[in-house]
Amino acid sequence: MGRFIGLLLAFILVVPLIRMVLGMLARMFTNFAGKPSSAGPSGPARVPAGGTLRKDPVCGTFVSESVAKTLSSGGKTHHFCSDACLKKFLEAPRQS
Ligand SMILES: [Zn+2]
Repeated sequence: MGRFIGLLLAFILVVPLIRMVLGMLARMFTNFAGKPSSAGPSGPARVPAGGTLRKDPVCGTFVSESVAKTLSSGGKTHHFCSDACLKKFLEAPRQS
């Protein structure tokens, strides 16, 4: 029985450690994956200048409301990282 308790103690000590490592890995992964790679045609390398972040529906880049190009349609306001994306959005067939 003593061996079992020892195992249990080791387990209790090891689990938070594994969780910590997994959490670190997850954070590293999201840091890599979360960065909007300049997939857009204009390569928006702009750092958001504060304010609410809005997702550009064309290229998927998150852009600050204060610097975004906006377009209101159907009661919704769309935010774009660049004129190129706004133009693309206008040219693309509507999904909604
Ligand atoms: Zn864009």
